[in-house]
Parts: sequence; C-alpha cells; structure tokens
Amino acid sequence: MHEMSIALSIIDAVVTKARQEQSRKVSEIELEIGRVAGVQLESLKFCFSAAAKNTIAEGAELTIRETAPVGECQECGKSFPVSDVYAKCEVCGSLNVRIVSGRELLIKSITLE
Ligand SMILES: [Zn+2]
Repeated sequence: MHEMSIALSIIDAVVTKARQEQSRKVSEIELEIGRVAGVQLESLKFCFSAAAKNTIAEGAELTIRETAPVGECQECGKSFPVSDVYAKCEVCGSLNVRIVSGRELLIKSITLE
C-alpha cells in the first residue's frame, strides 16, 4: 500500500529527528502534500496512526496542508495554478503543460516535547 510506505518513511524521519534532539515525545508533525501527489489523505492518516503505534510518534498530531499544483506551459513558458494534472495553458491554449509542483510530499515541521 502506497500510503503505508509513506507513513513509514515519515515515522522514520521523525524518529531520527527525535533521537538527535534527545526527545521522548513527538506532539505534532506538519506535512505539506501537493494535491496531485496521488496520496489519499484519509488513508495516510489511518496508516500513520497504525504505523506510529509503539514508536515515539504514537499519538502525534498529523497536520496536513495541501498545496495547489502549478503548471508550466512548454510552448509559451507561462506558469499558472492548475486544478488537475491535465491542464490547458490559459494564455496560448496549449495542452503541453508540465506540472512543476504539486506532487511533492514534505515534512514541514516536527514538534518535539
Ligand atoms: Zn502557453
């Protein structure tokens, strides 16, 4: 399951960070996920709480912020927000639009106690 492997890698990063900081508890994890990253947020939350059991991240609050995707027209170079991975350039009407952001999944911050 895609979301489970994402959840595990988040927990991995969080546990490493908590060890570095010699912390015993993680209170909050803030994620930034592009809307076209293909991640089911509800599923990710579920996988996260399952995977966090018996780790330092157990009970941590998962805050997810979705970011709007941005497309860049390969014909005229214009960048603009898009609602889907299939977008049309608003200037020249080209369908040759590359998604330049919106697929990322970042850990923005980890709050330790
Ligand atoms: Zn264009």
